[in-house]
Amino acid sequence: MLVSLPMKLPIPPLPGSSKINAVGRLEVGGCDVVELAREHGTPLFIYDEQELRNRCRAYMEAFSSRSGDFEVIYASKAFSCIAICQLAAQEGLSLDAASGGELYTALAAWFPPEKIFLHGNANTASELDFALRSEVGHIVIDSLDELMELDRAASQRGRRQQVLLRVTPGIEAHTHEFIQTGTLDSKFGFPLADESALKAVAAAQKAESLELTGVHAHIGSQIFALEPYRQTVAVLADFLALAREQHGFDCRLLDLGGGLGAVYGPGDDPPAVDQLVEAVVSSVEAEIERRGLPLPRIAVEPGRSIVANAGLTAYEIETVKTVPGVRNFVAVNGGMSDNLRPMLYGANYQALIANRPLAEPAMTATVAGKHCESGDILVKAAPLPEPVPGDILVTPATGAYGYSMANNYNGQPRPAVVFVREGRARVVIRREAYEDLVRLQERLE
Ligand SMILES: *Cc1c(COP(=O)(O)O)cnc(C)c1O
Repeated sequence: MLVSLPMKLPIPPLPGSSKINAVGRLEVGGCDVVELAREHGTPLFIYDEQELRNRCRAYMEAFSSRSGDFEVIYASKAFSCIAICQLAAQEGLSLDAASGGELYTALAAWFPPEKIFLHGNANTASELDFALRSEVGHIVIDSLDELMELDRAASQRGRRQQVLLRVTPGIEAHTHEFIQTGTLDSKFGFPLADESALKAVAAAQKAESLELTGVHAHIGSQIFALEPYRQTVAVLADFLALAREQHGFDCRLLDLGGGLGAVYGPGDDPPAVDQLVEAVVSSVEAEIERRGLPLPRIAVEPGRSIVANAGLTAYEIETVKTVPGVRNFVAVNGGMSDNLRPMLYGANYQALIANRPLAEPAMTATVAGKHCESGDILVKAAPLPEPVPGDILVTPATGAYGYSMANNYNGQPRPAVVFVREGRARVVIRREAYEDLVRLQERLE
């Protein structure tokens, strides 16, 4: 689905509709990126709506051609707003909310509550109560404390809540340690290495207002191999066999989490969605059958692999500075307030100039943000064609964990977000104004 532009430099991954238009500029979803920047301002997040839909469909179609009973759950923390929740619902996906705020956003999009899963390792009593009141389909329980609190709250509300137990399978996903979540030394879930997870099964079964429907594991993010998923299934199947033997637990929903990688640069080659689905379904069938267990409904929770490559960010270049013998700096009008991943994880972004993407690179530049931190670097080494102030610089593949981590550092209003499709751009999140920065603030008497 990604296109390669006819460029000699390392090709940045852009959405499928991207091309160079008649005036030699970058076009996405039928919209000229320079015009979008002019009309909506910069920094600007641009999503190719058709690419988003295609990626949802890739999951839905891979499962429907392979497995009878499945659920694709969009992990909304990757990019949460009303429009993406509507889109996910239209495409038949369920939704993961990682907090009360993400739940609120999904409900504001009229997302069907029975298809919402609430997650989190430190949900507050009020978040749990909000989920109960909203009648969400499932709550994924992360600890015994949460289990007891939820049981109490559900019984107060006279509701029997369906829950999954999050377990930590002890699998290394070979990704950055900050985004690896399935190892024993993790703050998430019940470890399978000792009796904790089995005890949690017993506790959940005993809890009068909870209905334990299944088990959940999420091993990490930006994963490029299928083997960790197969290993996870095998480890979970062992656990399910024990839980059935010891507690008569019948797992009806097996949720294998998200994590499939996105393409950020030339070296990135994640498996295709249908390969992931095939690996997951075939290993569940094999491992579950081998242990004589009933086949559960299978769920996955993709976030990044749906939104990362469908989105890009447009900035304006403000200054170009050469420190002789050291480095060329190109500074843009955003940075760690809109795309934090390079600073947080050392993520490797790329850049191109939307007003002349085909021009020969004339220098290697470090793309810096506008923030008062030396670490505010968006791209370490970008080959760029003689950048000048006023150029529109684009960082591709910034659709996941970009806007959702955006902040107001240095009093920077958060950017606008547009969806583009067939030549039409729709603002789905308005740009913050300076008034928004002080909207919650009170003056001293
Ligand atoms: C973050 C997260 C996901 C999504 O991960 P991606 O790498 O974006 O696909 C899914 N499930 C859980 C529990 C998560 O925390």
